[in-house]
Amino acid sequence: MTPNQPTRMATALLSPLLTAALVLGIVNEHSFAAEGSDSDSGFANSPAVKLGLEKSGIDPSEIATYSQFAESLLADATARVTAYGDGNVPAYAEYLKDVFIKGGFDPKDIHILPLDETVSLVVRYRGDGSSNRKPVVFSSHMDVVPAEAGEWVRNPFELQQDETFYFGRGVLDNKFDVSMLTTLFVWLKAQGFVPNRDLIIAFTGDEESLQNTVQDLTKNHRNLIDAEYAIVVDGGGGALNDSGAAIQYMVGFAEKTYATYTMTAKNIGGHSSMPRTDNAIFDLAAAIQRIENHRFAIETNEITRTYFERSAPFLDNEVGEAMRRFAANPKDEEAIEVLRAQPEYIGTLGTTCIPTMLSGGHAENALPRTATATINCRIFPGNSVEDIMGELSLVAGNPQLEWAVYGMPVSSDTSPFNDEVMGAVEASLTQLYPGAPVIPRMISGTTDGAYFRAAGIPSYSLTGIFLNPKDSFAHGLNERVRRASIPESLIFWQSMIRSIASDAN
Ligand SMILES: [Zn+2]
Repeated sequence: MTPNQPTRMATALLSPLLTAALVLGIVNEHSFAAEGSDSDSGFANSPAVKLGLEKSGIDPSEIATYSQFAESLLADATARVTAYGDGNVPAYAEYLKDVFIKGGFDPKDIHILPLDETVSLVVRYRGDGSSNRKPVVFSSHMDVVPAEAGEWVRNPFELQQDETFYFGRGVLDNKFDVSMLTTLFVWLKAQGFVPNRDLIIAFTGDEESLQNTVQDLTKNHRNLIDAEYAIVVDGGGGALNDSGAAIQYMVGFAEKTYATYTMTAKNIGGHSSMPRTDNAIFDLAAAIQRIENHRFAIETNEITRTYFERSAPFLDNEVGEAMRRFAANPKDEEAIEVLRAQPEYIGTLGTTCIPTMLSGGHAENALPRTATATINCRIFPGNSVEDIMGELSLVAGNPQLEWAVYGMPVSSDTSPFNDEVMGAVEASLTQLYPGAPVIPRMISGTTDGAYFRAAGIPSYSLTGIFLNPKDSFAHGLNERVRRASIPESLIFWQSMIRSIASDAN
């Protein structure tokens, strides 16, 4: 594959002009250089970047320019408080729209789609259509989870850095990837790159809360985002060990369905001085006990089997041995017992349900008229929310109990294996972290990817970020990302995008 040959040529032609445009247009808004931060050393001191530059043939000065550009986007993004309820996503989208227009995108190909207090942003990078293939969507989210500024070491809404890391709310989840994808589109445009199919950016505006914008896109703006598949650039990515080597690279293929049920026992009540055998709390307690003793079926699919098979070699203990045995034979009872006992892995074996809240009664001296348990389930792909409620209610063994589903859970199938995506990932890894095994994953939460899948667009979650799991502070205090992640991601995405949207390979 020679995807980056054209890069080098284009650089020679475009770089001076482009650099001028960037400096005038956007980078100036955040005078990082003026603050005396020696960005270049932070960017380049990763062995992966050195290797990536060597293998990709990308001009180092071009990486430096676009790393600075990406950093300025990340700085702008971090300063915007875009948690649910703050109402600041629309202004962020307008800012990004401006970046795309300055980068040469036709305003007609940029759509800001309002929904309540937030928006999504869709940008189409027009290809020449020569591949006759449907577009590929790249999706990240512009919102963040809230941050309690007082509890952070640094101001979460200002991009700060030390030798190794950037700090700030969203610098990992997910403003980093919004900034990288934006940079890539602008960079590829400046290189004169014409994809052989359309590429679509879909930035959503409420992934961390309601996840309505992704549903709005798939339901009401399908023509703008219709695609062969979606790459959800949020989660997944490379895991580094303490010496900075990549030990594995995760690609999300599936998500379990998140569903919460309430199970309620009702009773006519009465005075506690005249107790009867029928009692709402006893009824509920008996049902909970039956659910405690229930085991959901062991389930596997291609994703989870491959996950166990490829994860096994990293665990030099009985858990690794159980993974290996289970991957070879999903009926191996001993292996199942070992894996079931691991909270980390039990969710990959099938559906799990667990009571999380209890309420009941109305006075200390009255027989309870109601008692309710809340049961949270993570449902294995292929089972519906109704199926699992039916199974639970059967297990509870009391037809008098009342069941309800909380909210509107979305279930989605597993995305099929995709040789094009996996091939592109593997090729991109060889440029930065050669030899890192690619491990498919099923995620236990619900990201925007589930909604693309539910709408019939297979989705794969991955990112160009490599980090040591102990440095992952997403959603928590002092969220951070390695500074070297910027140039690493730029090299990664140049390779990914050229691999899936050009004929050069
Ligand atoms: Zn996220």
